Amino acid sequence: MHSYSLIAPAKINLYLEIIGDRPDGYHELVMILQSIGLVDQIDVRSISTDSIRIHCNHPQVPTDKSNLAYRAAELMAMQFPQAFAQYGGVEISINKQIPVAAGLAGGSTNAAAVLVGIDLLWKLGLTQSELEELGGTLGSDVPFCVAGGTAIATGRGEQLSPLPSLDNIYILLAKYRSLEVSTAWAYKTYQEQFGHSYIRDSENLAARANAVHSGAIVKAVVNKDVGEIAQKLHNDLERVVLPAYPQVLQLREVFANQEGVLGTMMSGSGPTVFALFESQQQAELVLRQVRESILDEDLELFVTRTITHGIKVASSV
Ligand code: ATP
Repeated sequence: MHSYSLIAPAKINLYLEIIGDRPDGYHELVMILQSIGLVDQIDVRSISTDSIRIHCNHPQVPTDKSNLAYRAAELMAMQFPQAFAQYGGVEISINKQIPVAAGLAGGSTNAAAVLVGIDLLWKLGLTQSELEELGGTLGSDVPFCVAGGTAIATGRGEQLSPLPSLDNIYILLAKYRSLEVSTAWAYKTYQEQFGHSYIRDSENLAARANAVHSGAIVKAVVNKDVGEIAQKLHNDLERVVLPAYPQVLQLREVFANQEGVLGTMMSGSGPTVFALFESQQQAELVLRQVRESILDEDLELFVTRTITHGIKVASSV
């Protein structure tokens, strides 16, 4: 096989709590992450030169070393120099459907797909946990993107405990095309405003993470109780992003007032806002209503659903 085509799903955060900060500059988090059916397609193929090449259909996505997919390929070349010498370079094509800088882990899922694709191209036979460990060196969300489904993530987001997969929730996503929120800005601002309440000793950090593990939203996920999950959605970063970005606040308010919406929240550091539904018809109805009440062509709306997998091979040649 000389090329693989991979499906790389986006994620939303059903829960995001910031419980502390760390000497390495990251935050201590407790999150519940959920893969969704909004996906990029990543094609990886061996090329005869020893270079890494990136192509992408989206003008905002860099095609140089700053692309997380490039860094994933570079990491594999460094970790497995013999395979790199044997199989040559890699050409990566990204068909981007996931909005960029949206809080949906678009870059992270592309990097995860490249790790999985090169493992297959170079016949390395890495285990999922080895791939996740490599992913953790590229970014906190990459390990989850490899595995996918539904999971609790702790530490800086890279320590995963799988939860029973949710496949029964429909989602409406909304994002202003030209609006980006810097993840680094969101965490820094949160630290400036709320850092005084951070837990700083390891015992209490572990206790806080355990409290979420045995808490109401995890019970709701285990019971696949969509209504209860929707009631318990939480994202600490809304406390800094909503006041600074009135458009995101407006979306949250518009979603909250629509019939059929079980719950609504911002994903990650935003600016994407999502709403949960029991049926696709309800989600599509609210999409049309929101489209009529916010007459702005910059607003992108998508209906999708929860899915139970992370990176998946679509085809190989
Ligand atoms: P997260 O939810 O993990 O914080 P995000 O969804 O907010 O991520 P990305 O879509 O990953 O954000 O994009 C963040 C920045 O990373 C963008 O401004 C973009 O320039 C850069 N970037 C690098 N590689 C990629 C990639 N493969 N896809 C999208 N953006 C990328």
